[in-house]
Amino acid sequence: ISVFNTVPQAPPDVIFSLTAGYKADTDPNKVNVGVGAFRTDDLKPYVLPVVKKADTILFNNADLDHEYLPIAGTPSYTKAAARLILGENSPAIHENRVAAVQTISGTGSIHTGATFLSQFYKKSKKCYISKPTWANHRNVFALVGFEVEEYPYWNGEKRGLDYEAMLNTMREAPEGSIFILHACAHNPTGVDPTREQWQGIAEVMSEKHHFPFFDCAYQGFASGDLDNDAWAVRYFVEQGFELFVAQSFAKNFGLYGERAGNLTIVTKSSEETKRVFSQMEKLQRSEISNPPAYGSRIVDIVLNDPALYAEWKENLKYMSNRIIEMRKALFERLTALGTPGTWNHITDQIGMFSFTGLTASQVKVLKEKYHIYMTDNGRISMAGLSTKNIDYFAKAVDDVVR
Ligand code: PMP
Repeated sequence: ISVFNTVPQAPPDVIFSLTAGYKADTDPNKVNVGVGAFRTDDLKPYVLPVVKKADTILFNNADLDHEYLPIAGTPSYTKAAARLILGENSPAIHENRVAAVQTISGTGSIHTGATFLSQFYKKSKKCYISKPTWANHRNVFALVGFEVEEYPYWNGEKRGLDYEAMLNTMREAPEGSIFILHACAHNPTGVDPTREQWQGIAEVMSEKHHFPFFDCAYQGFASGDLDNDAWAVRYFVEQGFELFVAQSFAKNFGLYGERAGNLTIVTKSSEETKRVFSQMEKLQRSEISNPPAYGSRIVDIVLNDPALYAEWKENLKYMSNRIIEMRKALFERLTALGTPGTWNHITDQIGMFSFTGLTASQVKVLKEKYHIYMTDNGRISMAGLSTKNIDYFAKAVDDVVR
């Protein structure tokens, strides 16, 4: 009898099984609005032109080798990543209160941060995630032993942020709880707090000494403006918080499979930063020894070259604009069709996703009758829509909500 006899079957990953279903579908009109990866208007993966240029520079470098990177990653990369999120003039950077560790994309960054907190964060074993959130928040924090709780976020009736309920949960949470906050372009709802609301959130979190753990997977991809998308994180730093930021370069560099990420750490003093960093290195050593090189080399080249950096911003604008255009196009078509309900939330929302408000049973009909694939919660990836399929999509939505 096998030693694995008692291992139960785990459920398949929702997103990846959705994609498998889409691939197997032979209908010519099929639409995949499930997966969260950018697509061009031809619905093809997009290699950023600036990434192609960085590739050429990288592979023309006669000194390129395949040695191990330092345990915490390449310093020019981690420094540039920290600068990108915190801002050139961040008080924390000037006061040497910032450490950064190269991680395996955003997921690895959340995992490294969560594992560190599970060892060294003594104030609370409770970690709060938004309801709803990206499924991996719960997965990762539960895996390293946190009690995962939810804070209200999406208000289905308002089709917007449940701000007061969110603040109330923050007020009632035990002192020093950890709160996972989406820095921008909340996944799955596409709803971000306004600047005024972020100020209110910071105030309550400060009163309750909660620890902010920002997840930043869409900087520059959301609004097309890197500084705008970093506003909340920078505001919290200005307010004197110690915090973690998990950064992913999957979306904003289109480096999904290359797993380029960074964990930016802000503490109260350079003394603390040094000790925290030493433990991060120790942790990283036991988990992965050294981070993967390729994706980070691309990001390193671009972030540290003014001309390429400027070009990257243009590439970001192209991606964010296409998404924003698709929001407008969908809104216009649903309005023109007189589709029952209000749809302005589609253009109000930001980032890769829109939380449409479609119910699980409507989602089912969309799949069975129209070969349109989305998650049961009615979340659509705007990048799955194009000028070619938007009419088909809007008509299908119109049909299922009637
Ligand atoms: N956080 C959120 C909210 C995300 O949507 C994603 C990407 N799906 C990530 C983190 C990180 O993904 P990755 O590990 O591919 O960088």
